Amino acid sequence: MARKLAQAMLQAWEDGCAAQAGERGLILLRLAEPTLSDAACRALSVGRRDAALLGLHERMFGPIARALVDCPACAEPLELDVPLAAIRVAPPEDVSEHFELTREGQTLAFRLPTAGDLADPVGASAGGLARLCLLEPNAPTDPATVEALEAAIGAAVNLHDPQAVVSLAFDCPDCAAHWRSPFDIVEFLWRGFDRLAGDLLAEIHVIASAYGWGEDQILALSPQRRRRYLGLIGA
Ligand SMILES: [Zn+2]
Repeated sequence: MARKLAQAMLQAWEDGCAAQAGERGLILLRLAEPTLSDAACRALSVGRRDAALLGLHERMFGPIARALVDCPACAEPLELDVPLAAIRVAPPEDVSEHFELTREGQTLAFRLPTAGDLADPVGASAGGLARLCLLEPNAPTDPATVEALEAAIGAAVNLHDPQAVVSLAFDCPDCAAHWRSPFDIVEFLWRGFDRLAGDLLAEIHVIASAYGWGEDQILALSPQRRRRYLGLIGA
């Protein structure tokens, strides 16, 4: 891994360690789309964020994600290799930025959820995502209307931002149970980052302990040189 990428990766890992999932999604998105401004990253729909994160996963960890789940019926642990190409959904053309829910004579305008909404603490609270997506000055307080709005946003995502709602089909070989689970690219990518950061820090630790060099100096070494030094140290 080139020095700049290794440093950016370690920084993203450090920033994301204590973050909630939506913030991690935004941190990883900035790494996936380094030419986009922070505002442009926040404004991407969740499906477009996930498409960019699939690309980052492919570049850093290859085209297959390994899913590990326990069967909900018999608790048998299962592994499923997921080719990322198979869960890519072509983005719909001409996605509207404005949707409407009409209910009891009242029309409420809303937009699709974005990467910024998921990273916003309001978005993680009950009914918060619907409030963030509402394009009206006054949010409805009547629970039935809030529920209808959440359902309308969900339907709009299914239809107009399908990459945001990918799920995987599992078959248990032990008990023949069949079920679907949502596929969360942020979780997969984060697990890979966590592993990679751990490996990189362990390499730095071994080389620093042997030679007394600093972290920056060690990260500036090419992976080939780092491996050669680790070999000489006998690690
Ligand atoms: Zn089972």
